[in-house]
Amino acid sequence: MNCHWENIDTFRSLNEFESFVAWMENQIETGRAIEVSVEKKSAGKMISERWFSCTNCQSKWRLVYPDPGYFSGSFLFIE
Ligand SMILES: [Zn+2]
Repeated sequence: MNCHWENIDTFRSLNEFESFVAWMENQIETGRAIEVSVEKKSAGKMISERWFSCTNCQSKWRLVYPDPGYFSGSFLFIE
């Protein structure tokens, strides 16, 4: 894996998660990322998940949304 994106095992706060989502939306708008369909969710049905692909290296990543009180979300390399 030689992508410049980095794993975020756990966002430190909801603010950090929201900032990340805004950053990713900007990556999409500027053509650096595309959102792709979720093929297999990693968390439960109630947890939102979005997949993104880096247009530079075609790697795929999953963004798992926070579950307040239990989990603060993550952004992880898939393949
Ligand atoms: Zn990349």
